[in-house]
Amino acid sequence: VTFLKGKNVAVMGLGKSGTATARALLAGGATLLAWDDDEAARRTAAVAGIPVANPLQDGGVAADLVVWSPGIPHTHPKPHPLAEAARAAGIPVVCDVALLARARPDARFVAISGTNGKSTTTTLLAHLLAQAGKPTAAGGNLGTAALDLADLPEGGSIVLELSSYQLELSDGLALQAAALLNITPDHLGRHGGMAGYIAAKRRLFDYLVPGGTAIVAVDDEPCRAIADELSGQGLRVVRISVLAALAQGVSAPDGVLLDNGVPVADLSRFPRLPGRHNWQNVCAAYAVARAEGVSPETIVAALASYPGLAHRQELVAEHDGVTWINDSKATNADATEKALVCRDTIHWIVGGRPKEGGIDALAPYFSRIAHAYLIGEATEAFARTLAGKVPYTCCGELGVAVEIAHRQAKPGATVLLSPACASWDQFASFEHRGDVFREMVQALYDEGEDED
Ligand code: ADP
Repeated sequence: VTFLKGKNVAVMGLGKSGTATARALLAGGATLLAWDDDEAARRTAAVAGIPVANPLQDGGVAADLVVWSPGIPHTHPKPHPLAEAARAAGIPVVCDVALLARARPDARFVAISGTNGKSTTTTLLAHLLAQAGKPTAAGGNLGTAALDLADLPEGGSIVLELSSYQLELSDGLALQAAALLNITPDHLGRHGGMAGYIAAKRRLFDYLVPGGTAIVAVDDEPCRAIADELSGQGLRVVRISVLAALAQGVSAPDGVLLDNGVPVADLSRFPRLPGRHNWQNVCAAYAVARAEGVSPETIVAALASYPGLAHRQELVAEHDGVTWINDSKATNADATEKALVCRDTIHWIVGGRPKEGGIDALAPYFSRIAHAYLIGEATEAFARTLAGKVPYTCCGELGVAVEIAHRQAKPGATVLLSPACASWDQFASFEHRGDVFREMVQALYDEGEDED
């Protein structure tokens, strides 16, 4: 990122994306004032050689530009003093996506947003474009920090996963196509309520280039209203639905992908993308890839080779007729429902640090569960919910749950880690929890093979 050479740039937030930004700016010759409100984060950054200094000096901001980490609230619940001072002084506040857009004006940018399914759709779309022979990088809110995508080959495609926070701060981004998956209540505190959250998601389409394509799932009310508004403005809108067959648009109401009503693929052929929620992700990725000129045949062939994402209904092992699934990303009942709804004879490993409401909302799926294995802080509460309805064992630790499930699961059964809880009572993150599970499962069968 050399276009800020010699400029004073403040970097606010020294997590993963902030640190990547600071490094890229330093390498590009900018003068840096990097800051985080958390002292430990500042210390870590300083040790890593990043110049730490508070950009807020004497009530003013000692910088030409502020690069804001999307993870840090800047407007709600209350204005952050640095963001407020920058805005008062007319100093732009942007996130790393805006810098990436300026660093790579040659790249074709497309983006995905929505409450759920962003990472799956982003990685799936990147896979479709790459299989079509386009040099492709994917990142943003997931995995790779935006600025780490800057070394893509000339003229390549960049697929961005954008959170509502990044959408507020991505000035200068120019999208060829953008897809909005769904809007359900989430992060309301930081957007000042549902209307603010919807407005932040709606901003996705403000970044479209003239003639760009807006892809909008119309299966919820807020998205439907956005699609109608965009059509009213004369934009190119492609609607997608997994609830109704659309004569115009991309849909999959019964698991068959329809392009303007014409069947193009049976989605049951793609086991890495199970369930109606994934059909929505497929519809969106398909529509963006079509807008980018990829043929339906190429897309369908590429769907079959999509490897899937770790921790999201990830197939870990199939042994002796038993299927092991890692759905550690399911940190609430809503996400776990997606895994229960498309399976039967489930040996369900559940628990951790519970969310409000626990697993009460999952009662309609209890008949699909052969046995539940309870772990973590949620054990007692979940035992009360399941009592008399589902046989369960209080296991405490994940390792115990895996062992007992291994003994009890018969051919045809699925052992599913879908905790419906945060991981922090026993693990560093949901990724850590899923990695430990995968290793335990693999160890079960490695040992078995040694004995043969
Ligand atoms: P995000 O990046 O938006 O958090 P992911 O692709 O990581 O979404 O998926 C997280 C979880 O959300 C999945 O494990 C699944 O349970 C659920 N999910 C995925 N796609 C959708 C969708 N289109 N609609 C609703 N829920 C979904």
